Amino acid sequence: TTLPKAPTPKPWIEAIHAYVPGKSKGKDGRPLIKLSANENPLGTSPAALSARGAAPALYPDPDSGALRAAIAERHGLDPARVVMGTGSDELLNLAAQGYAGPGDEVIYVRYGFSVYDIAARRCGATPVVAPDRDYGTDVDALLALVTGRTRVVFIANPNNPTGSYLPGGEIARLHAGLPADVLLVLDQAYAEYLAPEDDDGAMALAAAHPNVLVTRTFSKIFGLAGERIGWGTGAPGIVATLNRIRGPFNVSSTGQAMALAALGDPDFVEASRVHNREERARFVQRIAALSNHGLRPLPSEANFVLVLFEGVLTAETAFEGLADRGYIVRWLPGQGLPQGLRITIGKSDDMDAIAAALREMAETAR
Ligand code: PMP
Repeated sequence: TTLPKAPTPKPWIEAIHAYVPGKSKGKDGRPLIKLSANENPLGTSPAALSARGAAPALYPDPDSGALRAAIAERHGLDPARVVMGTGSDELLNLAAQGYAGPGDEVIYVRYGFSVYDIAARRCGATPVVAPDRDYGTDVDALLALVTGRTRVVFIANPNNPTGSYLPGGEIARLHAGLPADVLLVLDQAYAEYLAPEDDDGAMALAAAHPNVLVTRTFSKIFGLAGERIGWGTGAPGIVATLNRIRGPFNVSSTGQAMALAALGDPDFVEASRVHNREERARFVQRIAALSNHGLRPLPSEANFVLVLFEGVLTAETAFEGLADRGYIVRWLPGQGLPQGLRITIGKSDDMDAIAAALREMAETAR
């Protein structure tokens, strides 16, 4: 027998496919216009920008107290029911780590957000993938996979990368069908892009039941992706669990200050929502007009559109063609979507240019 020569990673860690972020540079290293990560094309609230510059030599407030209080007030929550994360990514990982381990099962839907798979595997749990229904969530198919070993269910609403949206009645039906000891994580990273009256009931479920965690982020409509600030709300027991295992100083001072200021600028959020709604509708209409060439935009409630290429022009060729024209979007072969490009809704001129380029490529493809 020979002794091992190096530390050996756990087998379940070695089975993880690392998250592959989108590219942001062209072939020759020139910068591209990046519409591959669902960032806010309007940038960041000016109020948030002017709140930068907190004392960098000091540790941040470990409880993000002022920010948590502001979030709680805004959403009518008890601050004790709000937990902060280094982006909502951290909270998704902590939810899996807190409630699942080797031998347990974590369910998410096919074409769900790719972090769920990593979150499940890194704590040694077994990911279980529910079949989709036309690229969206099929509640009955998901519930049919629940076993005595199921510990966590992840749903993004709206979902990334498909943009699909599950109405409140379906979310309630999903929750009602789950055993009380299964944690339902409702990931609302894109919730602010919906009209305020289109409430999927997630917050109310988290307020009323001990097994629901809702996660939100400052990365998308608030335009603070670079600062890594997410938050979650759920029963005090869930919040206490996540607080026990999160990094003690997991949100930077600058991030806390900027997020607080961003919350105080609802006009920026509203302008971002309106821009997204209008540009998304315009873009979807122009892509739907290319259906004779096999292009199919999936209905989206988020700040991106998944375009399927089912004709002569392939998603890969379109991806390369857009990159040649200076646009980087997201091609998703690693997520089982080699036929799809996820395109973030950007500025008007850029959406016009992309739609025109796709038309040209589709019409000349052979
Ligand atoms: N959930 C979903 C569905 C997402 O698309 C993203 C961002 N890609 C996140 C969570 C994580 O975002 P963040 O960590 O920046 O809050």
